[in-house]
Amino acid sequence: MSLENRYLAVKQRISSCLIDHKISRQIDLLAVSKKHPIDKIQYLYQLGHRKFGESYVNEAIEKIQSINCDDIEWHFIGPLQSNKCKYIAQYFSWVQSVDSLKLLTRLNNLREPHNDKLNVLLQLKVGGEDSKRGLSADSLIELASQYEKFNNLTIRGIMCIPAPTNDTNKQILQFKTCYQVYSQLQKIIAVDTLSMGMSADLEAAIISGTTMVRIGTDIFGTRVN
Ligand SMILES: *Cc1c(COP(=O)(O)O)cnc(C)c1O
Repeated sequence: MSLENRYLAVKQRISSCLIDHKISRQIDLLAVSKKHPIDKIQYLYQLGHRKFGESYVNEAIEKIQSINCDDIEWHFIGPLQSNKCKYIAQYFSWVQSVDSLKLLTRLNNLREPHNDKLNVLLQLKVGGEDSKRGLSADSLIELASQYEKFNNLTIRGIMCIPAPTNDTNKQILQFKTCYQVYSQLQKIIAVDTLSMGMSADLEAAIISGTTMVRIGTDIFGTRVN
């Protein structure tokens, strides 16, 4: 299948799922382009796509600089390291993988006040012992409630990466847990983004209340490492 057809097929899957389940919510599609070449990003750009996700800072900066389009919304979704925060604050408009006060403070200090605020999602730990990263529900809520300290950031919501499983019921169960934390968070601050769902569990995420799915493989094909 061509890149265009794969992309259209993913969009079709999203709209069919919304129709099948009588859901009227708008779903953002983040095209996860990590480990895929620049020309594929440019191709999707020509088709009108503007939201791209990257996981490796050096690779991402190279792409962002060489594509050089101001109207692309770049999302950092990979594991965050302190020493890379500077580049993330400089090159990205969203960062989805923030999981500590230290990182949040660092990003806030490094974001230039003359830039638009950096959009932040706090990463929620799901799947128990399987996942090393992310905040517990309680610490996520506690951290978000300190939002007034961060003048250069906007906390937009939650991102999660549940333990992979082919069992749709288990997928839904994990996503619903995330949705509950998101609802709890909405009572404290004005958030509008719940980022959950990847190629293998996109429908389960939509059924469970996602507002943004992050799709790599089903758009771009298998990643070459
Ligand atoms: C790679 C990645 C994705 C995309 O995964 P696919 O299974 O290729 O769709 C989504 N989210 C995160 C955080 C990722 O690292």
